[in-house]
Amino acid sequence: MISLQILCSGTPTPSEIRWGSAYALKMDDEWFMFDCGPAATYKLIKSGISPLDVSHLFFTHHHSDHDADYACFLLSRFDMSIGNEPNLKVYGPPPTQLLTEKLIGEKEGAYWHDFVARTNHPLSLWAYQNRGGNLPRKIPKVHAKDIQPKELITGPDWTIECSRVEHVQPYLDSLAYRVNTEKGSIVFSGDTRPCQSLVDLSKGCDVLVMECIRLEKEMAGNSTELSESSALAAGQIAKEAGVKMLILTHQAHYLDTSKNEVIEEVQINYKGRIEWANETTLINY
Ligand SMILES: [Zn+2]
Repeated sequence: MISLQILCSGTPTPSEIRWGSAYALKMDDEWFMFDCGPAATYKLIKSGISPLDVSHLFFTHHHSDHDADYACFLLSRFDMSIGNEPNLKVYGPPPTQLLTEKLIGEKEGAYWHDFVARTNHPLSLWAYQNRGGNLPRKIPKVHAKDIQPKELITGPDWTIECSRVEHVQPYLDSLAYRVNTEKGSIVFSGDTRPCQSLVDLSKGCDVLVMECIRLEKEMAGNSTELSESSALAAGQIAKEAGVKMLILTHQAHYLDTSKNEVIEEVQINYKGRIEWANETTLINY
């Protein structure tokens, strides 16, 4: 069974019910996080997931609504650590490595002072020991890597494929990911206009987490259709790829007032199971 925790299911514009992009996929005892949008760390906690249980983080692209909580996540994970956790692995298109270095790189990183203070001052060392850590307190290593489309990332019983999707190139590159496990397969579209590479990557998958930002009529004739997918397109991609379940996310309908209209438009093309991505809910398939 695939278990997906919806953390952030919105856009750059904050609303009462959704903001930015982030998802956590259960992988046995660990969680893999996809994007780290605004307040993702807080929503992890609200969902009952410790940042320490997130072992891998994948960025689809580096618009701020997909990465603005990265520093908070890294520093919370450090602050909660007792020093025996596996090092975090982070993958994404450029500038994933550079962003990581700028945030937490030795001496030059914007938050390096926090590592220095918390690994030296008696207050932090007491707190570290009090939660079970043994001195000396070390600064954690984060393995961040820029990846290219078609690069394969593998674990003991899983593989992750990625393909380039079409969003705001050439300014930012964008990847969609497909996770294959014994429990099933799930694709994260990231932000993209409808494109063949996403259909190909999603072929026959169990779950597609798909951008579905607006109704077709709201996008037709303006520049949003060059970079994003409407409800009609989301349904068309799911149909062409033959996915078993479709999760609609990245909605710009801030208060869900158009939810039924959006789902009806998706159903013009797609007849399978549809889920509406509500933040801090767990979807099982
Ligand atoms: Zn974007």
